[in-house]
Amino acid sequence: MLVFWLVFSFILGLSAGSFLNCLIWRLSHRKTLLGRSICPKCGHQLFAKDNIPLLSFLLLRGRCRYCQEKISFEYPLLEFVTGILFVLVTLKNLGLLPLVFGWNMGQTFSTDLSPQNIFILKTIRDWIGVFILLFIFVYDLKYQIIEDIVVLPALLVVFLLNIFLGFPWQRIALGILVGLVFFGSQYLLTKGKGIGLGDLRIGCFLAAFFAEPWLFLFSLFFGYIIGGAVGLILVVLKRKKWKSAVPLGPFLVLGAFLVLFT
Ligand SMILES: [Zn+2]
Repeated sequence: MLVFWLVFSFILGLSAGSFLNCLIWRLSHRKTLLGRSICPKCGHQLFAKDNIPLLSFLLLRGRCRYCQEKISFEYPLLEFVTGILFVLVTLKNLGLLPLVFGWNMGQTFSTDLSPQNIFILKTIRDWIGVFILLFIFVYDLKYQIIEDIVVLPALLVVFLLNIFLGFPWQRIALGILVGLVFFGSQYLLTKGKGIGLGDLRIGCFLAAFFAEPWLFLFSLFFGYIIGGAVGLILVVLKRKKWKSAVPLGPFLVLGAFLVLFT
């Protein structure tokens, strides 16, 4: 049964990663989300056999079947990472992942739900969270934009799932308020140059996802530490000027993963 759950999680994660690639590509090129996939180079329609996550890339040796153009390794990499993180979510919620700190294990849930239902709801919530966090990571890194059309509906869904799981909505709302004040004040103080409104939206999503304000604050703390360290290294190596340093979003995501998986 355990093997079934892990294989299921991995395949679901690979498919989610594949969808994520498609979502990122189509949003960034302002294409509709409907319709068949095409090769970005030659425009040839891609069929199911060209679109199997990870496997197609390996079988085609990283080239388009029709024009032989190289396919970026980012696509299978994102699929693989999503697959692995989906498996980690399942392991964690089954209590089988050896956690160093167990940050979000102390959360309390409604006693009306059976342990199975708590596991299912929590796992679905965490899969959605991982999916959106990876979306933010890649999209913010590549385009420095946060797409409301993806992040805001996801925020609403994790908010509702957390309420089903028995978290008082007031606590979640308090976390979101903390995020609004934390990022809003930085936005006003730096006149929008340091912190963008995108970071504010990431903050609100993280607050809704973690449900507990202190977990959310921990993720911000880790994100700022990692971001500050990487920024400092880049400045020392003279790769970047301090002002034009890297976007904050990807580091907030890493901070969130640390809270989720350690
Ligand atoms: Zn092609």
